[in-house]
Amino acid sequence: MTNHTECFIIGSGPAGYTAAIYASRANLKPILYQGHEPGGQLMTTNDVENFPGYPEAITGPKLMEDLQRQAARFGADIRNGWVSQVDFSTKPFKIIVNNKDNFTADTVIIATGAQAKWLGIPSEQRLNGLGVSACAVCDGFFYKGQDVAIVGAGDTACEEALYLSKICNQVHMFIRRDEMRASKIMQDRVKSTPNIHIYWNTTTDEILGEKGVEAVRVKNSLDNTTQEIPITGFFVAIGHTPQSAIFKPYLDLDEEGYIITQPGKTATNVSGVFACGDVMDKNYRQAITAAGTGCMAALEAERYLAHHK
Ligand code: NDP
Repeated sequence: MTNHTECFIIGSGPAGYTAAIYASRANLKPILYQGHEPGGQLMTTNDVENFPGYPEAITGPKLMEDLQRQAARFGADIRNGWVSQVDFSTKPFKIIVNNKDNFTADTVIIATGAQAKWLGIPSEQRLNGLGVSACAVCDGFFYKGQDVAIVGAGDTACEEALYLSKICNQVHMFIRRDEMRASKIMQDRVKSTPNIHIYWNTTTDEILGEKGVEAVRVKNSLDNTTQEIPITGFFVAIGHTPQSAIFKPYLDLDEEGYIITQPGKTATNVSGVFACGDVMDKNYRQAITAAGTGCMAALEAERYLAHHK
């Protein structure tokens, strides 16, 4: 197994695969490790309606399968496994995969994405997998015809509430302020769906149930009244955390953990290390922008290698 490459790509979302397409077409013979969740966040997305080129929409998993095949077609070496450690203090850079396999690389492209956030209440952890989920598209089907709840007020929460409304009987949506953060079109769709009941100024006190979710206790923050609502599924859709922890000793991160890149570029504070996609982008977080920055990272890596040869 080759253990040195000119270009090592970490992550397999739209950013990682696009970087792999460009790097392999530039003959950098990239090695890409897919990480714990091959395909990334889009594997749990139903219809992608806004990726240019698909006028009839495409499912997230199909889009990711196509991107992987496209990268493999040009010779990208795509492998299953996760990067457990890096050392960016020496050149070539050192990378350890699965806690045991050692690699060296002249350039590294980080495309590790972001992970779902949780509310942090004890019952959420206790009932995780027993009715509590952070992915409606993955788990909604288990609650077919039943009553469920969802927390969050961004585009993800709206998308998931709409998805659940098509499968479930009633969707209770808890919003902590008196307005939603989601785009207007998504808000309008949610508000006009008859079986989505919106609770404004409402926070989750506790999820109730022993061996599974039976109800949720919520609190109205204006008058401090609480109420218990019978449900069998509880979905959390309150945003994401960038997956950047292993890079912290070497790379500049912002206060939320996003990798800081040079303005208008994917170059990090370590020359030869580039970051793209959701791990460095908290503004746009779209598949198409992730793919765009993946392209930029590969082009910048290619120029870096040409300059340093
Ligand atoms: P966001 O960060 O946009 O929204 C998170 C939401 O969760 C906010 O409404 C926030 O409330 C709420 N929230 C956070 N913490 C808590 C808590 N402890 N209790 C209750 N509510 C909480 O995340 P999203 O995942 O929704 O979206 C991320 C990005 O991806 C956005 O830019 C979005 O536009 C984009 N996106 C686009 C889609 C599309 O175009 N098809 C689909 C999905 C996402 P508050 O507003 O009060 O802070």
